Amino acid sequence: MTSPEPSPRLRAALDTVPAYVPGKPAAAPAGVTAYKLSSNENPYPPLDSVRVVLDKTLDVVNRYPDMASVDLIAAIAAFVGCDPANIAVGTGSVGILGQIVQATCEPGDEVVFAWRSFEAYPIVAALAGARSVMVPVDADQRHQLDRMADAITDRTRVVIVCSPNNPTGTVVHRAELEAFLARVPREVLVVLDEAYGEFVRDPDAPDTIDVWRRHGNVTVLRTFSKAYGLAGLRVGYAVAHEPVAAALRKCAVPFGVNTLAQVAAIASLEARDELMTRVAALVAERERVQAGLAAAGWALAPSEANFVWFPLGGHSADFAAACEAAGLMVRRYGDDGVRVTIGETDANSRFLEVCRAFGPR
Ligand SMILES: *Cc1c(COP(=O)(O)O)cnc(C)c1O
Repeated sequence: MTSPEPSPRLRAALDTVPAYVPGKPAAAPAGVTAYKLSSNENPYPPLDSVRVVLDKTLDVVNRYPDMASVDLIAAIAAFVGCDPANIAVGTGSVGILGQIVQATCEPGDEVVFAWRSFEAYPIVAALAGARSVMVPVDADQRHQLDRMADAITDRTRVVIVCSPNNPTGTVVHRAELEAFLARVPREVLVVLDEAYGEFVRDPDAPDTIDVWRRHGNVTVLRTFSKAYGLAGLRVGYAVAHEPVAAALRKCAVPFGVNTLAQVAAIASLEARDELMTRVAALVAERERVQAGLAAAGWALAPSEANFVWFPLGGHSADFAAACEAAGLMVRRYGDDGVRVTIGETDANSRFLEVCRAFGPR
C-alpha cells in the first residue's frame, strides 16, 4: 500500500519558525561524572517540602487542575505585593511569551529584542506571523537600548528586554532603562524578562516591580524554572496591568498549568528563604568561576546570572569540544560563542581546569 499524498494546507508563517535547540544531555568518557551545563538549570534537587506536596498531589492527577490557578495566583500576588488581577500564569515564561505575542501581534507586526538573546524569542514571534527585529548587543555584550528604541516603528507591538540577558549574562541599569522607556510609545508593550532576576547582585539593576508600577506599558516576566528549580514542571508568570493580564489569560492553553506545577510553585514561594540560600551559593560559585577565569587571563563580561558567556567566534567549536571531552555539556551558539551554566561545585572546578588548559582567547 502506498501512503497518501499529504494534502492539508499549513500556515506559510511556519516555514519561518527557527528550530529550538535543546541543551545536550550529560555524557562523559568512561569513569568521569558527566555534568549538564547546557540549559541553565538549577543543579539542586527539589526541596523536601516540595517533594511532600508533589507526593500528596499524585493522588488527584485523575482530576483537571484548577483552570484559573486561584491559589497560585493569590500566592504570587501576595509575594509581589500586587492585586491577583495583575498576575497571569503560564507553562513557563516561554508559554507566557507565546500568550503575549498572540495577544498583541497581527501577522506582519514587529517584535524588537536584542541579539544574541533568548532563542525562544524569534520562535514565538514567527509562530504568530510577527517579524523579529534583532538589535545586536554591543562589544560589552550589553543591550543597546537607544538602538532598540530607534528600531521601533508603527508596526512594533512588543519590545523584549532580557536582563540578565541569556546568553550574555549582562544586566540593563535603572537609568538607561528609564531613558529607554521614556522613548517607547505608550501602546508598545515592553516585556522585562527577568528569568534570572534572583541571581542579580548589581546595585544599579532596576527594581522591575517598581518600574512596572510606574509605567502603563510594562510587563514583568518571571519563572519558577531557574532559581526555584522547577524547570521540569513548567510554570512562570507575568506581572501586568489589568487589561494586559486579562488578555494573557484569554490566550492561555486551557488547564495548561497542571496541578503538580501549581502546588510545587506555591510550596516554593513558601520555602523562598531556603531556595534563596541555594541561589546565594550559586552566586558565590559564579564569582569563584569568574575570579578563576580572570586569574587565568580571560577577559569576559561580568555575568549577573547562573551562567557565563564566552564570545569565542571561530574558537567556539573547539572550546565546546574541549568541555565535552571533559564530560561537561555546554551550549554552543554556532560561531558566536559558548554559554556555560554554573552547576555543581565539582563541575565548576573541572570547567575552570578546562579553561586554564584551553587558554584565554
Ligand atoms: C530559561 C529562560 C526563561 C524561562 O523559561 P521557562 O519557560 O519559564 O522555563 C525565560 N526567559 C529566559 C531569557 C530564559 O533564559
